[in-house]
Amino acid sequence: MARYNDSVCKLCRREGMKLFLKGERCYSPKCAIEDRNTPPGMHGQKRSRRKTSDFGRQLREKQKVRRIYGVLERQFRGYFRQALKAKGVTGAALLQLLELRLDNVVFRMGFATSRSQARQLVTHGHFVVNGQKVDIASYAVQPGDVIQVGERSRSLPYFKDLAQFSSRVSSPKWLSTDMAALSGRVNELPSREDIDIPINEQLIVEFYSR
Ligand code: SF4
Repeated sequence: MARYNDSVCKLCRREGMKLFLKGERCYSPKCAIEDRNTPPGMHGQKRSRRKTSDFGRQLREKQKVRRIYGVLERQFRGYFRQALKAKGVTGAALLQLLELRLDNVVFRMGFATSRSQARQLVTHGHFVVNGQKVDIASYAVQPGDVIQVGERSRSLPYFKDLAQFSSRVSSPKWLSTDMAALSGRVNELPSREDIDIPINEQLIVEFYSR
């Protein structure tokens, strides 16, 4: 299946909420949601007034999460199957699996302004996990893992600036970041309360349980 190549702001407008797909722009007045929060397309406004069925709400919730983490349908279904086998609440387990992806962790640690930028940095081989180069965005990190910018990448202007000037480090408590050292650590598994995504994951469970 091909990746989505159209404007990502349309995805936010389709879901009626900020999905934070564009980095710095998402926090500025230029954000399309601030400007016009209606579904894209000629009949967008009409569509937004339509009553949504249970299935429609479940589908939209699933799509929101899939788009936030930049995961394709097949992969997402795989995460759901894994979550079903996990102990505890399936919806929370699903979000935990998504949070533990290396690209998400790189983003959460503040090494990138969006998950898509983090994915690119990871796939270009700029990170090491416990001293080993990892260029797989979906790599699942574990508590105790140390994530660092690789030796050869540290001299790149992007990482030099990040180490010297970055002020956007506000990692969640399950992670810690030392931006000056271009390094971070996974302290523990994230709980549902640590995941600040305003969605109802139970609807996703219902979607796949139909
Ligand atoms: Fe979504 Fe960011 Fe575009 Fe705003 S700027 S609509 S949050 S992708």
